[in-house]
Amino acid sequence: MDIETPPSQRDTPKPQGERRGLVLVHTGNGKGKSTAAFGLALRAHGRGKAVKVYQFMKVPSARFGEHRLFEQLGIPIEGLGDGFSWKSRDIEHSAQLARDGWAKAEASIRAGELFMVVLDEIMYPLRYGWIALDDVLACLRARPGHVHVVLTGRGAPQELIDAADTVTEMTLIKHHFNAGVPAQRGIED
Ligand code: ATP
Ligand code: MG
Repeated sequence: MDIETPPSQRDTPKPQGERRGLVLVHTGNGKGKSTAAFGLALRAHGRGKAVKVYQFMKVPSARFGEHRLFEQLGIPIEGLGDGFSWKSRDIEHSAQLARDGWAKAEASIRAGELFMVVLDEIMYPLRYGWIALDDVLACLRARPGHVHVVLTGRGAPQELIDAADTVTEMTLIKHHFNAGVPAQRGIED
């Protein structure tokens, strides 16, 4: 194995701009989109910043690891879904919940009282047409300049990628589900 020489120069330009709120997108087919968003929420909370996490595909009563920990820490996390979205049990109901959820999320972004708003799995309601992409883009454009917004989910639309400041694609190299390993507490939920 070749030994690499450590870089002696930074490969990013010296920042010239102002600090400001960012739009961050986590997309792609590999695992880690939501967990990375929770990591940002933790980091911001650690700095004493106000954070809110909305989850479009989780029920309000969800008690996954993140809910338990965030409750202990005092980070508000709210499920906006009905858990049926996958099964198409009542599509119109799921769509209405997504619209109501978006109204809440939009209000908290626009209010400007939060440092960071996480919109976990928002790509699903966008893809299903339950929330209009134009409404989301308009909200991001019009938001108070200091508010950071993190959006997660597979298949981020190109216009959202164009509007974002930082976009990370989690690339699927391997996933244990494909080897038949079931979901486990503390890893999946
Ligand atoms: P996580 O919540 O673990 O960070 P994620 O947000 O990147 O995952 P989602 O697209 O939200 O991934 O997927 C939800 C569930 O599907 C998670 O339990 C995750 O482990 C699982 N998953 C993620 N990537 C894959 C994959 N490539 N193949 C199969 N299952 C996956
Ligand atoms: Mg996820």
